[in-house]
Amino acid sequence: MHLKSLTLRGFKSFASSTTLHLEPGITCVVGPNGSGKSNVVDALAWVMGEQGAKSLRGGKMEDVIFAGTSGRPALGRAEVVLTIDNADGALPIEYSEVTISRTMFRNGGSEYSINGQGCRLLDVQELLSDSGIGREMHVIVGQGQLDGVLAATPEGRRGFIEEAAGVLKHRKRKEKALRKLEAMQANLTRLQDLTSELR
Ligand code: ATP
Repeated sequence: MHLKSLTLRGFKSFASSTTLHLEPGITCVVGPNGSGKSNVVDALAWVMGEQGAKSLRGGKMEDVIFAGTSGRPALGRAEVVLTIDNADGALPIEYSEVTISRTMFRNGGSEYSINGQGCRLLDVQELLSDSGIGREMHVIVGQGQLDGVLAATPEGRRGFIEEAAGVLKHRKRKEKALRKLEAMQANLTRLQDLTSELR
């Protein structure tokens, strides 16, 4: 599995549609300070489902939409499209090429799609979670983040390892199932109260 291309439209400083073609192996993005190198990495994290504005170096989620410059007005939406080569079947989907897209509108609406089919954020996260590109995004190490990894608590460090090993997904599912069970138990107790009141 490798990332084949990344297209940015209205995402941060990329007002015009810009496509980066990536080959297997190492890709380096070079450019002057402030030219948008980190914005490319932000786009990658964003299209894969990143939900934290802070992780995307913004104050609020809408900050990913092109805010305009002196010569160009602000745009109303941001879109990022990521194409992944899945010839080795690393992603659990019957396609040798997978295209994930995410669009955000300035009014707050958001859309995701996998291979052109509209889907939920959860579907994108589930698709990627076994590939090592989990929702915690530990595969993207930003400037200064290495210090954070080194200074992490033992629990935090365990989180990194669990995600890399693919355990985190199951832990999250277990937590969700336990929460549902608790809610069900509360409903049952309520039902028992009502039944005894009726007797
Ligand atoms: P450095 O080498 O200094 O780390 P960089 O190449 O990584 O820089 P980025 O941080 O990716 O640069 O890009 C910063 C630029 O992106 C700034 O000029 C900033 O104004 C612009 N930018 C960020 N968000 C938006 C937005 N929503 N609309 C327009 N421009 C934006």
